[in-house]
Amino acid sequence: MKGVIIAVGREILTGKTLDTNSHWLAGELTALGISIRRICAVDDILEEIAGEISYTLSLGVDLMITTGGMGPTRDDMTLEAWASALGRELVLNREALGMVQEKYRTLYQRGYVDTPDITPEREKMAHLPQEARPLPNPVGAAPGMLLEDGGRVFIALPGVPGEMKAIFHEDVVPLLSRLLEKRGEGGVLLQEVVKSGFGDESLLWPLVKRVMDEMEGVYLKTLATRFGPDVDLEVRVEAWGRDEGEARDRLDRAVGRLKKVLEEARHAGD
Ligand code: AMP
Ligand code: MG
Repeated sequence: MKGVIIAVGREILTGKTLDTNSHWLAGELTALGISIRRICAVDDILEEIAGEISYTLSLGVDLMITTGGMGPTRDDMTLEAWASALGRELVLNREALGMVQEKYRTLYQRGYVDTPDITPEREKMAHLPQEARPLPNPVGAAPGMLLEDGGRVFIALPGVPGEMKAIFHEDVVPLLSRLLEKRGEGGVLLQEVVKSGFGDESLLWPLVKRVMDEMEGVYLKTLATRFGPDVDLEVRVEAWGRDEGEARDRLDRAVGRLKKVLEEARHAGD
């Protein structure tokens, strides 16, 4: 399953906020076995967000996730952009409205907000593209959005990291796990970092590549740092498997083989 992550928010483009959401999502989705093809950030401008979503649709990915732009303010336009890019109407979703109402009722009872009434700003968060489903937000007020469309999955999550992570764990992981299982793409990714004994990446790489080419389901990456007599570069070994056992077996074999190849190369000139 191929995926794209789009972070929405001017604060990312102006350097005020580091896009940790995409970084976090990329790690989580990769661990589920999804191949992230692209990460990008866009401004809080309707045409920019919709344009990026349309472009991503043209790439033919299976999964597209946006984060940010889901709140009650005018510059929160992600759901409108989704609707526009997908050619769907933005409609008041009853289930989403129920979630927003319930959230403000609770916040009011606790004395966190002055009124439980559904103001236009609060109601705005319950407008979703036609046929989309709201994803409950256990932390904040804005529900997430899920839209399944001809085998493709479109998801919109809030920008506040705690809210995004909560919705992701509660609803997105079970959904994606089920889909991956159905497509026969469910799996486990394991990794281990190995010290190479090499300080020059250009000499290390051919050895690493040789091991990667020999093995199925493994990916090896040299971790560049700097030059110097004291440098001992590390290699990250990643192994995929349909289950933990297969991933573990591949990882152990790749790590063992890499250590042997490195050892032989280090002693080649002895
Ligand atoms: P938003 O849902 O776009 O209104 O975002 C609310 C807040 O979440 C922003 O003010 C940022 O502090 C934070 N935030 C938004 N997007 C990101 C992101 N991609 N990475 C980390 N924090 C973010
Ligand atoms: Mg924003």
